[in-house]
Amino acid sequence: MTHDRDTIIVGAGLTGLVIAHKIKRSHPDHRLLLLEKNCTSGGVIKSFRDSGYLAEYGPHGFLDNCAESRALLTETGLEQACVRASLKEFVRYVCIDSKLMMIPQSPLKIATAPLIPWPDKFRVLGDLFKKPLGGEPTVAKWAAYRFGTALLPYVDAVFTGTYAGDYNELKIDAVMPGVRQLEFTHGSIIRGALAKARKSRAQRGQGAPLQMPSMTSFPDGMQRLPDRLSELIGAENIVFNTAVTAVKQTASGWQVETADQRFQAANLVVALPVNQSLRLLEPLQPPPLKQIPEAWIATAVFGFKQGSLPPGFGFLSPERERRFTLGTLFSSNMFPNRAPHGHIVFETLVGGRRHPERLDLDDETLLAGALADVKGLLDLPPKPDYTKVLRPKGGIPQLEHGYSGLLSWRNELVTRHSGLYICGFGWEGIGLNDMIKTAGSVSERIVARSRQTQQRAEVRKVYF
Ligand SMILES: Cc1cc2nc3c(=O)[nH]c(=O)nc-3n(C[C@H](O)[C@H](O)[C@H](O)COP(=O)(O)OP(=O)(O)OC[C@H]3O[C@@H](n4cnc5c(N)ncnc54)[C@H](O)[C@@H]3O)c2cc1C
Repeated sequence: MTHDRDTIIVGAGLTGLVIAHKIKRSHPDHRLLLLEKNCTSGGVIKSFRDSGYLAEYGPHGFLDNCAESRALLTETGLEQACVRASLKEFVRYVCIDSKLMMIPQSPLKIATAPLIPWPDKFRVLGDLFKKPLGGEPTVAKWAAYRFGTALLPYVDAVFTGTYAGDYNELKIDAVMPGVRQLEFTHGSIIRGALAKARKSRAQRGQGAPLQMPSMTSFPDGMQRLPDRLSELIGAENIVFNTAVTAVKQTASGWQVETADQRFQAANLVVALPVNQSLRLLEPLQPPPLKQIPEAWIATAVFGFKQGSLPPGFGFLSPERERRFTLGTLFSSNMFPNRAPHGHIVFETLVGGRRHPERLDLDDETLLAGALADVKGLLDLPPKPDYTKVLRPKGGIPQLEHGYSGLLSWRNELVTRHSGLYICGFGWEGIGLNDMIKTAGSVSERIVARSRQTQQRAEVRKVYF
């Protein structure tokens, strides 16, 4: 049977787009098709522009410390078109007791900054003497065990900023597998981190300064990345407004069904967020969980004609502060041209895993709550010039109880079903760099498999 395509990719978010781009780039003759439910590509990546302001529904950027992401920028010709904000210059703040505490940029400065009392700093060193914590602890339990409880508000802020999550629910093995490995290999995070730093210094060469990564975006916002990838993949290879409703393995590959069409392919990539993958793949083998929790947020955008922001990227508020908002990004500090000349803009996040009820508020109420909250922390003129509520199209998958079982189920499923690849938002992390890294390795495996199949066919031709 001849396949309609060599590879079908379900979902044209960043994951699906990067896989398609990588395959096309190395094998232009590979016949692939991306099927996308929505009318545009990019998934949760979407920039918003109005009245001279630029904001984001989804991601604001990615750190340029990932080789695969840097390679993607080069391949797409976007390397020169980036805007970058170095972590060396841009500090962050955590709101503690209704005050913004600046987090210094180097471990030594953090150690000496007045973030926690001195006796608690000595408790942090207790990490050197603690055995690895067994089981699958939550982030909060694990951090308290290793470093003591004084650091918890800061740890909470980190996971509010990345997952919009609840660190009493997120599992440390799922959200920081690398850190957990340091714990098991070196018996201590501090020892492991020092060993890593020594190795990296040796690789850089003695005396070479440590490069701090930069937050990276584009002058017209993050949407530039999926737009450029879609251009390179070619409109003829992406079908929009087409939701995949079922997938089936056949004798010769995969059959993919939509409301009114059927497609055949040798390889099937399900490049969807965890919950959407589960719905599609359940008939192949029931998963141990029907779904995982997601954290949804709304972004309140505020533009001011006068007023200034503290230097830096922005701040995060741990739950114990009991504030209305999760944190604020100082957008006009981070990247140029985010606001009209002489104006400032910041984006304040509301909702998350712990406060989904706030997302039910109408725009006016949500804006009023968010503005009252940030006014207690920032020095602002009485009224904003511009306001807007952005509600992203997707939630952030939460890697909580049962996630490790789900990963095992996914791994078993792909082992049992040749030609099936499952990746995307939440499967191997949640950040853009995670998606780009995994997409690169999936595309390599698909190309290798196609090559093997082709070689087998050629050998058969010789003998028969
Ligand atoms: C609010 C928010 C802020 C974020 N901020 C950052 C950040 O600052 N930095 C960072 O690194 N990461 C951030 N992330 C994470 C980052 O955006 C994701 O890692 C990444 O965009 C996920 O891409 P994806 O393609 O895997 O999934 P998605 O973007 O969800 O794409 C999946 C695609 O599949 C389509 N689809 C779904 N079901 C079907 C179906 N049945 N048939 C066909 N198509 C289907 C969807 O329409 C969608 O286009 C953020 C995420 C969110 C939600």
